[in-house]
Amino acid sequence: MRAAAALLASALLLAACTSEQDAPPKPTPQVSPVPSTGTDGGGTAGPRGSGQGPSARAEGYSTPVEDRVYPDVGDPGVDTLHYDLRLSWDPASRTLDGTETVRLRATADADRFQLDLADPLRVSRVRLDGAAAAYRHRGKDLVVNEPVKQDSEHTLVVRYSGRPRPVPAPVRRSDFTTTGWTVTPDGGAWTMQEPYGAYTWYAVNDQPSDKALYDFTLRVPAPFVGVANGELLDRSRAGGDTVTRWRLDSPASAYLVTAAFGDFTMTTDESESGVPISYWTPSDRPDLLERVRQTPAALAWLEARLGRYPFDTLGILVVDSESGMETQTMITLGDTQTATSPEVLLHEIAHQWYGDLVTPEDWRDVWMNEGMATFLQGAWLAQDRGVSITDVMDSWAPVEARERTAAGPPAAYDPEAFAASNVYYGPALMWDDLRQRLGDEEFWRLVAAWPDVYADGNADYNKITTWWTEQTGEDLTGFFDAWLRGATTPERVSPVGR
Ligand SMILES: [Zn+2]
Repeated sequence: MRAAAALLASALLLAACTSEQDAPPKPTPQVSPVPSTGTDGGGTAGPRGSGQGPSARAEGYSTPVEDRVYPDVGDPGVDTLHYDLRLSWDPASRTLDGTETVRLRATADADRFQLDLADPLRVSRVRLDGAAAAYRHRGKDLVVNEPVKQDSEHTLVVRYSGRPRPVPAPVRRSDFTTTGWTVTPDGGAWTMQEPYGAYTWYAVNDQPSDKALYDFTLRVPAPFVGVANGELLDRSRAGGDTVTRWRLDSPASAYLVTAAFGDFTMTTDESESGVPISYWTPSDRPDLLERVRQTPAALAWLEARLGRYPFDTLGILVVDSESGMETQTMITLGDTQTATSPEVLLHEIAHQWYGDLVTPEDWRDVWMNEGMATFLQGAWLAQDRGVSITDVMDSWAPVEARERTAAGPPAAYDPEAFAASNVYYGPALMWDDLRQRLGDEEFWRLVAAWPDVYADGNADYNKITTWWTEQTGEDLTGFFDAWLRGATTPERVSPVGR
């Protein structure tokens, strides 16, 4: 998710600064992604259901946890593997009809299990492994009252219909106040759902530690078209409707899944490295298409530092919003000047490595996403403005101190202030401080190596900080704790006013 507008404002002030440029980062050599201590980034193949081998992860196996910040969402008893979502949207009545088939693994013996599904959607049928299943849908909890055994796998079919509504977001931000299914004045719809809200439009284990694969079939009256994550397999007409089929073959957390319906025009492009790119922009806004055509340049800048883009396709979807989000392989951007700016575009593409490929186990560690995406945004800005990276960080430092006081330390924030600036600026300054301690060569080599260690999976505070300590041979425990859990900003290697 993009940083608050203050970030952009402070960045623009830098245009007036002058300073020597940082040495360009070295190309990133290949680093073995397997951690030296045999933690679950590589390791031996456990039971398939353990979700921890790289190949099991690629098939959607996970180790779901209860969220420490938002425990009301998600159920660690369920590991969803694959969702097949067949969705029809009626722009006139604002009604969504869904037939959903979920393949899932039970993580423990239990008398029942549950998914999240918002109550404006009414369930008409639930089947488990081909037979009618007992269920109860109360509030946002869809409880399936059927016994399951640990590591048993099941197929659940849910039919539902209704007029979805977004839900309040636990934020104090100005660019959004709700998450989930959002209807536009012309009867279109789009969704952004960080930290939760996927459950406003399908039955889902709505917590980041449960990654799954997805297929979508989206139907809507023409000229509207349905857009989702992954590869567009097929687009056809059925009667007066547009029908699109999409496949996301990289496991995704629920918050990174998207579906949108609207009058979008698709334009294709390609990155320098051969990644197929598609732009989905409002048909009446050619200006927005021109703005997002910065994508290949942003991707090339990131690939020079992080290595090859981790997925098969990249899409940019522009919707009627003021915010933007790193939805997996199909980035969702608001249609404003800020949300479509080159630096926000770069920030969201950076998340494909930091956030989408490797994802926090729970929302306590959203700083893992936002800190690195913001640091990379700052590094790009520095180059763009002809200043040093540290100059950019200097300009952000006063905001970091203020935001840490207001919303708490980045890794121990106020749950009512999700994604406040504290999780952006502080960790960005931290990474720049570490860059200066380690030197550019080692720092950038490790920045590129980390996302592969838990590719297609999840990590947490201990995993990432331990990995940096192991890789550098320096005990960085106190360094990370001070930056991420401290009440005040640590003294920087290059403090403001240097
Ligand atoms: Zn972000």
